[in-house]
Amino acid sequence: MSDHYETLGVSKDASDADIKKAYRRLARKLHPDVSPGSEDEFKRVSLAYDVLSDPEKRRNYDMGGGENGQAGPGAGFGGFSDLFETFFGGGASAGGRPQPASRTRRGKDALVALRIDLATAAFGGTADVDIVTAHTCETCSGSGARPGTEVPTCSMCHGAGSVQQMTRTLLGQMVTNQTCPQCRGYGTVIEHPCVTCHGDGRVRADETITVKVPAGVRDGNRIQLSGRGEAGPGGGPRGDLFLEVIVEEHPVFTRDGADLRCTLAIPMTAAALGAEIPLETFDGEQIVEVRPGAQTGDVVRLRGLGAEQLRREGRGDIFVTLTVETPGALTEEQRELLEQLAQLRGESAPSGRAGDRHTGPFSRLREKFAGR
Ligand SMILES: [Zn+2]
Ligand SMILES: [Zn+2]
Repeated sequence: MSDHYETLGVSKDASDADIKKAYRRLARKLHPDVSPGSEDEFKRVSLAYDVLSDPEKRRNYDMGGGENGQAGPGAGFGGFSDLFETFFGGGASAGGRPQPASRTRRGKDALVALRIDLATAAFGGTADVDIVTAHTCETCSGSGARPGTEVPTCSMCHGAGSVQQMTRTLLGQMVTNQTCPQCRGYGTVIEHPCVTCHGDGRVRADETITVKVPAGVRDGNRIQLSGRGEAGPGGGPRGDLFLEVIVEEHPVFTRDGADLRCTLAIPMTAAALGAEIPLETFDGEQIVEVRPGAQTGDVVRLRGLGAEQLRREGRGDIFVTLTVETPGALTEEQRELLEQLAQLRGESAPSGRAGDRHTGPFSRLREKFAGR
């Protein structure tokens, strides 16, 4: 590479006027019309003048840049910025620009409450759930463009989806990729949006889904239905649908794990004499055996008639808590019979029995309210 100063025959600190004067003199002498065979030298002189007469090119050349006056390694901030980007990415010189974004994406997952009754939760079954979710638009098949219209390449980014921006900073020139504001990164522009979905490719629609409920589910369990969530934009696949189980209260039974609990009010006479009391369960009518002399708070267990267990064999039990009902309004005859009974049992002038043991459902209730 020839030295431009030497070519023009000027010193390194030559003024613009000196450089111009030297060039004119040499050009007149070396012009191909005047001096055939000196084309190469004429070109060298022309290049030297082109670089040294341009203040920026001359500065770059002085700082070790290329012979055409471009910035070179170590040539000030320009060179540093290239290095900076090579190490930290984000610039054109680091290689590779982000790809345009796809309009097609997977839809979001959806979470919906699934209200079921106790029988369905305990023994499984099916339940219908109404959901409102995003579906792929049928008018445009999810493309978002009015059918039959073109979706041209973005004129601002030419399809890249990003535009490069040069900024001068203290560290030199920075090249950053920014999402193209015209196409918002897609590389194409929907000029005629679908009138049904306004360009989103999706519409909201009602849907009734019949769900298989496994036996033994409880409040808060989630049932996952793959591919039944929101449709994705641009005709993308649907996400998943999650159904959170809410078990409605049952008028008789409460759930306690796999066991079911209920109370059974029985007449005083049945409690005293013993009885077989029918109870409607999920397995039809069953008999609750009340032993003679049963008390309020006594528990009768019906084995194997409770709820099923999620992913486990075997059922829980039903626990029936007895409540003895004292007769209220008495007829004259009933009153006489009870007085007779009291006499026979030596309870005509009854005495109570004090103690510190709280028994029976009402004292338990009191304990609950007392925070125990
Ligand atoms: Zn664009
Ligand atoms: Zn559409």
